[in-house]
Amino acid sequence: MSNSTFTMIKPDATSKGYTGAILDQIIKAGFKVKAMKWTNLTPAQAGQFYEVHKERPFYGELVDFMSSGPIVAAILEKENAVADFRTLIGATNPAQAAEGTIRKNFAASIGENAVHGSDSDENAQIEGNFFFSKLERF
Ligand code: GDP
Repeated sequence: MSNSTFTMIKPDATSKGYTGAILDQIIKAGFKVKAMKWTNLTPAQAGQFYEVHKERPFYGELVDFMSSGPIVAAILEKENAVADFRTLIGATNPAQAAEGTIRKNFAASIGENAVHGSDSDENAQIEGNFFFSKLERF
């Protein structure tokens, strides 16, 4: 059981002004912020972050979207963090996401789906290390 996960608030959500409401929902669900930054990925950085999806048909669209505007990257802590955060954000496609989940509340489509959440402890480590040094975690 992990106690750490990684998230991004994606460009669709930051551009619509949902950043504060999404962070509020995350914190009210019991997650503690260990590291956070507002930044904008270059296409090369977005391509590297999503390299595991390189062969998927939507890879190009995903890279374009994720570098199209600001994102908020964060490391979150909670007991059972990876699984509990995936439950909090809901299904990839907001049309299939459960009521009350972040994607149900804030996402527009399967591509522009408001938030990222790590899918394993290993990826949570890799993704957190992509954005944050040890000195940026508190
Ligand atoms: P997640 O773990 O729920 O984020 O979903 P995946 O790992 O399957 O996909 C990663 C991200 O790629 C998703 O969060 C979406 O932003 C994007 N994505 C997934 N499927 C599609 C698709 O069919 N079309 C587009 N444009 N983007 C997609």
